[in-house]
Amino acid sequence: MFLPIVGYGDPMLRKEAQPITPDYPGLKQLIDDMFETMYTADGVGLAAPQIDRSIQLVVIGFRPYDEKTDTYGPEEERHVLINPEIIEERGEKKYFNEGCLSIPDIHEDVLRPERIVLHWWDENFVEHQEEIDGLFARVAQHEIDHLHGKVFTDRLSPLRKTMLKRRLNDVASGKVHPRYKMKRKK
Ligand code: ZN
Repeated sequence: MFLPIVGYGDPMLRKEAQPITPDYPGLKQLIDDMFETMYTADGVGLAAPQIDRSIQLVVIGFRPYDEKTDTYGPEEERHVLINPEIIEERGEKKYFNEGCLSIPDIHEDVLRPERIVLHWWDENFVEHQEEIDGLFARVAQHEIDHLHGKVFTDRLSPLRKTMLKRRLNDVASGKVHPRYKMKRKK
């Protein structure tokens, strides 16, 4: 089932999300619905606050890019992050063009570390701690920001933020209509 996306300006996106336990009601169905929502909206990651749940749950899915052959692999790479925590930032900080399903039509280069040590539980509540890099590390950092009430435009320079102000206000006041369904304003 597609779950309507919470847009920029909704207080849900500014909340600190709560950790969950394996007995969280309907967890498996929720994860399936989040993947369906993400794929329908053409995203590569989705955090639970974006579908109006203030919990520490993230889904990520993309086809890995191979620099050597300049192609995308046939196999989908999928991750479920429950209660994720960035333990350490490693490597250089790099710019990468990001967008967000909660902020339609805005894409900006965001500076983040290229590698992180990440601790999380997967959909079977198996514990992981690994150094991750590439698109997985990039998307994970973007989605983990959502769990702490942050969005990618918060990380832009004051000048860029000022330049985007009107477009962000348009999103906040419901004037932007992506082809996927957004949560209606109360
Ligand atoms: Zn986002």
